Amino acid sequence: MDYQPLLEQIAADVAPLVGGGTPAEYIPALASVDPGQFGMAVADLDGKVYGVGDWQVPFSAQSITKVFALALALAEGGDSLWERVGREPSGNPFNSLVQLEYENGVPRNPFINAGALVVTDRLQTLTGDASSELLEFLRQESGNPELGFDAEVAASEQSHGDRNAALAHFMASYGNIDNPVPTLLDHYFWQCAIEMSCADLARAARFLARHGLRADGSRLLTRSEAKQVNAVMLTCGTYDAAGEFAYRVGLPGKSGVGGGIVAVVPGVCTLAVWSPGLDPHGNSVAGVASLDRFTTLTGLSVF
Ligand code: GLU
Repeated sequence: MDYQPLLEQIAADVAPLVGGGTPAEYIPALASVDPGQFGMAVADLDGKVYGVGDWQVPFSAQSITKVFALALALAEGGDSLWERVGREPSGNPFNSLVQLEYENGVPRNPFINAGALVVTDRLQTLTGDASSELLEFLRQESGNPELGFDAEVAASEQSHGDRNAALAHFMASYGNIDNPVPTLLDHYFWQCAIEMSCADLARAARFLARHGLRADGSRLLTRSEAKQVNAVMLTCGTYDAAGEFAYRVGLPGKSGVGGGIVAVVPGVCTLAVWSPGLDPHGNSVAGVASLDRFTTLTGLSVF
């Protein structure tokens, strides 16, 4: 299918929303990004990519990296990860501490910050260098050897990272973190500071549409694990607005406070959108609207 005319129509439809919302303010290096940018890309199963607007401009992937870290941790370490992190929506903000105490240091899911810290901790134990492993994986799957970290964003996160440090120390007090907290935080912040474009993200996420198969045809996840990761994205991937996202878009998706969102149509294609203005839940305003338009116009959804 030629997605190009469709993408151009979607870009025209959502143009009035671009610039709406507010870029993330709690990480100073993200607050200064031009909010008037918008890009969208679709990758088919073979890696052909269609794009519109700023689809080749790199931006801070932030929490979108949590999906890739989860997939790698499952691929390398298996199911035992689920003893340390749940699979239920939290209904709380992504960086909330409250629920963790009631639930004895076991985070609700791998996509809130506490859960992602557990996943990165596991990946660090498995690989000895979680953020570099993740970057290398993303380079291979996106086919872009230039992918890298944004050192300014990483430093900005480090210096405003008290809440993530609190989450990590709190879980460590329950025995749910294996590595020294400063090491873990370092890898987590570098992970969040990976820069990717919509084209890179759409390509890199294809294993989720290809039922676990990597770009080179080798298997990363079993078919069942790929289904499981997609299911957790659908229920937990867009902060505490995952219900609204499922209602509007009807696809597994993962957003980040950089304004990007990755979504998956299993067996068909992957989508990536980016526009820095966020709604109050932390999801890109124009990004959600464009994915909503995509599924409405094509009928491609999991429902
Ligand atoms: N680096 C951000 C944090 O940990 C990621 C947040 C996000 O994209 O949801 O606060």
